[in-house]
Amino acid sequence: MIELKGISKVYPDGTEALREVSFDMSQGRSCSIIGPSGCGKTTLLFILSGILKPSKGKAMIEGKEVVSPSKEVALILQDYGLFPWKTVYENVALGLEIRSHSVKSRISKKERKRIVLSLLQDLGLKGFENHYPKQLSGGMQQRIGFARALALNPKILLMDEPLSSLDALTRETLQNFLLALWKNNRMTMLLVTHNIEEAVFLGEKIIVLSSRPGSVVKIIENHKVGDDNYRNTEDFLEKCRAVRRSIEGGVT
Ligand code: ADP
Repeated sequence: MIELKGISKVYPDGTEALREVSFDMSQGRSCSIIGPSGCGKTTLLFILSGILKPSKGKAMIEGKEVVSPSKEVALILQDYGLFPWKTVYENVALGLEIRSHSVKSRISKKERKRIVLSLLQDLGLKGFENHYPKQLSGGMQQRIGFARALALNPKILLMDEPLSSLDALTRETLQNFLLALWKNNRMTMLLVTHNIEEAVFLGEKIIVLSSRPGSVVKIIENHKVGDDNYRNTEDFLEKCRAVRRSIEGGVT
């Protein structure tokens, strides 16, 4: 379970990014966070992943306060975070290699190779192991970023606008991919987006934030996520309208 309890964040230069943000989500559920640009969405994910400390309030995962990065949590960023001088294989293997240096979680080279090759197969990247990121399309690069995070078998996947630099068709394909990933693995998934349809397609719960300082305007339950053909239903359009109304209400 993820719990945010009255999180506020003021940066050292006095910028108030978040004010009293509270919500929770159970294990294995999906949640979208949507709000205008600059309202503190990234700040919130950084706090949850233990990279930043809140000025006030607490972020809790499974009942424990988040005070440093945890290996159960993976963070996927918008710009893919790939190393251009490393091949696809090396980029995907990176996290596993770093982890295998830790005595506690040693993973043999053979096992690392098995994990990476199986993920490359699942993500449609087989045959591209020796390519470099810039030789591949944006959609493929983002899938490398997903593969790298998934290699570590996280329980919680935090994503910061992971699809926003992709063209509309690729974006839709990867939204379908993320939905299938979540349905098959039942990991806890928290997605930051500024795209209303994406928030509704992927989030069982949609947290609408106000403009800066971000505070919760509304929490919209969206239980039909994952239903067949949800994207083309009247319910889907109605949820999109509800989210739009809430965003408009929260922009000052
Ligand atoms: P979002 O992801 O919703 O676009 P961010 O969390 O990136 O918003 O930023 C929220 C606000 O905090 C913005 O006004 C941004 O300029 C500001 N901000 C982000 N990082 C810092 C920082 N390190 N120091 C000062 N202000 C920051």
